[in-house]
Amino acid sequence: MLAVTEPGVHVITAMVCTQLMKTALIENTVGYFMHLDPCPQLLVQPKDEAVEAFSKERITPLIRSTPVLRKLVGTKKTRSAEETLTYKAYPGGFLAMVGAGSPDNLARRPVRNTYYDEVDKYVITREGDPIGLGDERQATFAQYLSLRACSPTISGESRIEMSYLEGDQRQASVECPHCGHRNFLEFFRHVQWDTDADSGIHNPKSARIYCEACGAGWSEGERLRALQTTRWHQTRPFLCCGKHQDPMAAYEEEWRNPNSSPNAADPVAMIWDWWASDRHAVYRARCCDCGRWAVDNEHASFTASKLFSPWPKDAPPKIAAKWLAAKDDPDLRVVFDNTQLGKPHKRQAGKDLKAEALASRAEHWAADVPDGVGVVTAGLDTQDDRVEIEFVGWGTNEESWTLGYVVVPGDTSTEEVWTEVDKQLLRIFRRADGREFTVEAACIDSGGHRTQEVYRFSKARLGRKVWAIKGAKEQGGQRAPVWPTVKPSNRARAQFRPVMIGTNAAKDTIRARLALPEPGPGFCHFHAKRELGWYEQLLSERLTEAAIAAQLLPATPGWRHTPPGFISVDPDKDAKADLANLRMGKVTLSELVEERGYDYVEHLARYAEDLAAAEEALGPGVMFDGDPRKQLKPSAPESAADNDPDAAANAA
Ligand SMILES: [Zn+2]
Ligand SMILES: [Zn+2]
Repeated sequence: MLAVTEPGVHVITAMVCTQLMKTALIENTVGYFMHLDPCPQLLVQPKDEAVEAFSKERITPLIRSTPVLRKLVGTKKTRSAEETLTYKAYPGGFLAMVGAGSPDNLARRPVRNTYYDEVDKYVITREGDPIGLGDERQATFAQYLSLRACSPTISGESRIEMSYLEGDQRQASVECPHCGHRNFLEFFRHVQWDTDADSGIHNPKSARIYCEACGAGWSEGERLRALQTTRWHQTRPFLCCGKHQDPMAAYEEEWRNPNSSPNAADPVAMIWDWWASDRHAVYRARCCDCGRWAVDNEHASFTASKLFSPWPKDAPPKIAAKWLAAKDDPDLRVVFDNTQLGKPHKRQAGKDLKAEALASRAEHWAADVPDGVGVVTAGLDTQDDRVEIEFVGWGTNEESWTLGYVVVPGDTSTEEVWTEVDKQLLRIFRRADGREFTVEAACIDSGGHRTQEVYRFSKARLGRKVWAIKGAKEQGGQRAPVWPTVKPSNRARAQFRPVMIGTNAAKDTIRARLALPEPGPGFCHFHAKRELGWYEQLLSERLTEAAIAAQLLPATPGWRHTPPGFISVDPDKDAKADLANLRMGKVTLSELVEERGYDYVEHLARYAEDLAAAEEALGPGVMFDGDPRKQLKPSAPESAADNDPDAAANAA
């Protein structure tokens, strides 16, 4: 695997089917750095037992059977008391092997290279994510390498899938021995077998790869020859020159409908530049306008199926037989996707909820907000090139109305997009009787590529209850509860953390609600303005996030639906009651302020500003009613500000 020595690469992810490449990749990389570029290395296995097994079965034979390593590792010069099964020293470094469940071991000494094997089996400990803990050890090395490998599990819950998606998403192509066309081999696309027309009986033995361009079937010999031509391509979609570009889609378009440009004979060259030396080789994705290599290679991520395996036991007929045995059993399908295709298994989400059926029950309502809504929340979905916002109104018993769907286009690593998003979140919604509603809470998923931007945005708006959320890790099919048991507080500001959410359980809840037949508790109302495409992505993040935002709100005042024309509170009495409670010491100023959704720290800063301005205007010694210092000096003179409504509101 040449990515190890590719200039610029610091993180490598291999999301591959079982047995293929993975172990060999780790062995070869460890051996390379022992011999040619010695440095401290850390290898992490999911469990302590796996560490010993890996050392005995992989590392020891690797050293014994490689003469140059035999001379370097564990010789008299480096042998020390520390030398054990899980610690190998050599001139210029060592290889330490630890279990992911032992965070102490992960954090012990600085290392330059970290290797994480079987990452989907790691357990997150109280100390944190093993990958994060291990990578922290690399802080002092400029030339660090972090390598993660695993076959994936369930889509959306698989850590190796997340890591793959964070990288440049390399996929492999091979040349057709008949026409030279490069095929990105995929089981469901390229493998076919005979089925008896009358009996419907499958004959997996006849399975072979068929070229998508010339249609020729490949013999096993031709497949093995084709594998010799394997090349990797960056396939991650990107935004450049204002255009959203998807290399795989562009390639498909290019070879199916060749245009008349000089490169038309070579569709690969239309999309990618071959970048190679004796130390690296990869097709870099190129912007179709400016020609720049638009996808960074700092994180090289790979995926491959068994179709790329040279072993006879992985030949197409064997894979086809496994598919036929698995296709009607949901559990076996997961295993097939993971171990044969090297792909995370996609749960059949909302299969029975047809978009048309949902669209057919859409309603009209006057004004932005129908009668029945008490609270408005928003859910935000952040993509590289846009932010999508869903506004949802909530009534009693979580009956909901989708009030609006807005797309804010633009590069989400820039400030402009977020300014526009903020404007949207400050939008005013009106009911037919004129009552105004603003967004009371919003949730943004902080997963994906824009974690830091999302943190920054929501951190600055905690007082407005704009929360960053993060899907809780789910393991062994065990779902995290939907809603966190602890509500986020403004105090979380100092040590900012996203709110952990059981996203999958939340989606299940919403899926169940969409299936409700008639209005009532939990029912979802849709406005007739929505297009069919909107229903098709109904189960995407935004609706879930808006629901989460509603759930994180305190269940009291604003939550109850107030019928039109009836005003439930007397601001004057409320302020007086607050003041009386404050003086009696029943509540603190910070509680009062935070109850109203303001950030206490920001509030204090503004308070100080107001006080300074008042002193400048009225002279020194001004003190507003409700000033905490006033309680210590009950005889302090009342100032003119006492009767100033602004100051009273400020104090409350
Ligand atoms: Zn062909
Ligand atoms: Zn460009």
